[in-house]
Amino acid sequence: MQTAFICPICKAPLAREGKSLLCPMRHTFDIAKSGYVNLLLKKAGQHGDNDAMLAARQGFLNSGYYSHLANALKEALASLPLPASPAILDCGTGEGYYLEAARSALPDASPRLYGFDISKQALLFAAKRRLDASLFVASAYAVPIADGTVDAALLFFSPFCREELLRTLKAGGYLLMAVPAEEHLWELKQLIYDTPYRNALSPFDIEGFTLLSHRHVERVIDLASQEEIQLLFQMTPYYYKTSPRDKEKVRAADTLAVTAAFELLVYQKQS
Ligand SMILES: [Zn+2]
Repeated sequence: MQTAFICPICKAPLAREGKSLLCPMRHTFDIAKSGYVNLLLKKAGQHGDNDAMLAARQGFLNSGYYSHLANALKEALASLPLPASPAILDCGTGEGYYLEAARSALPDASPRLYGFDISKQALLFAAKRRLDASLFVASAYAVPIADGTVDAALLFFSPFCREELLRTLKAGGYLLMAVPAEEHLWELKQLIYDTPYRNALSPFDIEGFTLLSHRHVERVIDLASQEEIQLLFQMTPYYYKTSPRDKEKVRAADTLAVTAAFELLVYQKQS
């Protein structure tokens, strides 16, 4: 069975045979029992987010605190004129929260879902969502997907590689990107830092893409316990950059009303 995958070694198309993907040169990649395939060539140690960070993020996301962003993604995706069986590629899919949102946005379509992450551990979480998605270990800078096969790519807080997005998208294909807004997690930063800074936003223009829409998505979420505050804190990069003294300040808080604000950007690849 033909797939959109290409061989990471020789770039020829990968076909599925039983529990493996293989190319005409017989380079073979086995699909793990848990449901993902490792298409990353170089073996390395711990990649991407660690287990504790992943578990915290999944617990937090599954509590629905970022559901306003997931809903905005669903609305944006549902409004696009996608073909009947679109190929959706989630770049840096993590534990699959936004890929699941994308799936539910297209109830009448039969999307072909692809999600990759540099972290095998993240894909173990994603596989448990049972999305019937093709999950694979890969880098954003060498995506083992054939040229011009993707109808819509998702990039939610993940490494950005313009060349690979342009290569894998069809002409006229879409890129849906979410980035933290300037005031995202402001109250948490106020709690930690003596002099907090707002997030810096990069310019929205991307060469080779037309910006179709830009939506600011924001709400204040109420964290009602120290446990919930810790889940949020541990899924942020601040957790790993904060001194023990400043971590104590977070540990002392019982409740926190915190702004969860994002920019959702929809682009179309120029032909
Ligand atoms: Zn090959």
